[in-house]
Amino acid sequence: MRFEAFALKTEFMNLVWHRADLRLHDNPALDAALRSGPTLGLVILDPRILQNTTPRRRAWFYQNTAALREAYARREGTLLVRTGLPWEVLPRAVSELDIQNVFAGSNFTPYARFRDEKVEDALSGRMVWLDGQYIHKPGAIVKANGEPYTVFTPFSKRWWAASEPSLLEAPAHFPPDSLPPHYDPGTIPQEASDVPLPPVGEEAALCALEGFLRDKLPVYHQTRDGLAGEGASRLSYYFTLGVLSPRLAARKARQQGGEGARKWVSELCWRDFSADLLYHRPQIMTSAFDPRWNDLPWSDNRELLDAWLLGQTGIPVVDAGMRELQATGFLANRGRMGVAQFAVKLALLPWQKCERALRDLLLDGDNASNLAGWQWAGGLGVDAAPYFRVFNLITQAETHDPNGEWLTRWVPESNGGAQPYKPPVLDLESARKRYLAAAEKIARKSG
Ligand SMILES: Cc1cc2nc3c(=O)[nH]c(=O)nc-3n(C[C@H](O)[C@H](O)[C@H](O)COP(=O)(O)OP(=O)(O)OC[C@H]3O[C@@H](n4cnc5c(N)ncnc54)[C@H](O)[C@@H]3O)c2cc1C
Repeated sequence: MRFEAFALKTEFMNLVWHRADLRLHDNPALDAALRSGPTLGLVILDPRILQNTTPRRRAWFYQNTAALREAYARREGTLLVRTGLPWEVLPRAVSELDIQNVFAGSNFTPYARFRDEKVEDALSGRMVWLDGQYIHKPGAIVKANGEPYTVFTPFSKRWWAASEPSLLEAPAHFPPDSLPPHYDPGTIPQEASDVPLPPVGEEAALCALEGFLRDKLPVYHQTRDGLAGEGASRLSYYFTLGVLSPRLAARKARQQGGEGARKWVSELCWRDFSADLLYHRPQIMTSAFDPRWNDLPWSDNRELLDAWLLGQTGIPVVDAGMRELQATGFLANRGRMGVAQFAVKLALLPWQKCERALRDLLLDGDNASNLAGWQWAGGLGVDAAPYFRVFNLITQAETHDPNGEWLTRWVPESNGGAQPYKPPVLDLESARKRYLAAAEKIARKSG
């Protein structure tokens, strides 16, 4: 892997392969490509990713790809779209179009790393990798002895002390390319989403960021934790596809300053921390971060799993969360913690299945943040979250939805009350005791 943008030849065209960076602003791969010569954009519709996800998430991806194509076109640029495995598509495109170099932002999930190694092999020295998906990329923030962090607070201290990356402007226009006449730019599929999608594209994302910074950031530290999620930014679905630069968002918040900004930027630090955890320990895709918790007495009870998934457990905060997710593709952080605690600690459902189900429902579904969220909320060893902290799901609702408006909206049967509105699928108190007994036994055994 190398970065020699200034030394690259300029007589040929470059390609920017957009992956989790569907934007023109603050895009280091695009910037480096353009500095070395005429540049085309490319999005590859990778069946290994797209066939493995849900219509709402595909629709969100396709529509943001279409918005990126429009952003290119407005600047006289071209975004190509091709379908296939990247290590087969890219060599074809490179030889067809006489491409000198392919620029891309580094991604870090286990599949992304596998894919990018294959691409690197297939393109023999033409790949140029840049940063930009994170504020500080996985592997960049390490202890003094070079080891990765496992606990958030010390990670975040070093993260805050690291120098801020410099930001990059979107290009005003693309230099003329030498695409053959009538060259097929490729079609972006259209797929219906089963949930209403937020406004698409980077202009919408930048506008949403501005609105949040102006109206909500100053009091974010006080309002962020509501179950309705009204006090938070709802920018996660833009960050997941890289429609919005997290580096730009953090910079703007830091410039604004104040307690709200500090707290919000610290959530972006959680995003980097989550990616760092997965980067160093890919096994957490399937195993508990602390493997002792793999031995909890997991229950493969299909009826219980379905009741959880469809918001029919009888416990208002859980059902409201899952119904909101099903109907909108979004759930605030407090709700995510509640549905995850119920699934892992009280129902003892195999967390891997639940994590996958949530990721498929979320428009912002992201391997690293979702895994870290599940393993943190489930007490499976991420950070310093102790196994014995079990949420009281009644007081959670009373505290974080004090007027019961969110509960009423999603579970009208509850009349806004936090107590079970029908006989629940499990008794909360006995489930809590059962979990604690099993967890304590494991903790005692391992000393
Ligand atoms: C069980 C569980 C599953 C989760 N799954 C995902 C997921 O698939 N994708 C995802 O982006 N986030 C996930 N999160 C983290 C968090 O809940 C969401 O990022 C947040 O609720 C998104 O809302 P927001 O944009 O209004 O956040 P804000 O409060 O405005 O935060 C700003 C940004 O910081 C990042 N962020 C905030 N909290 C976290 C966090 N705890 N971990 C990592 N990043 C964070 C997000 O990018 C978010 O957009 C999960 C959390 C839990 C407990």
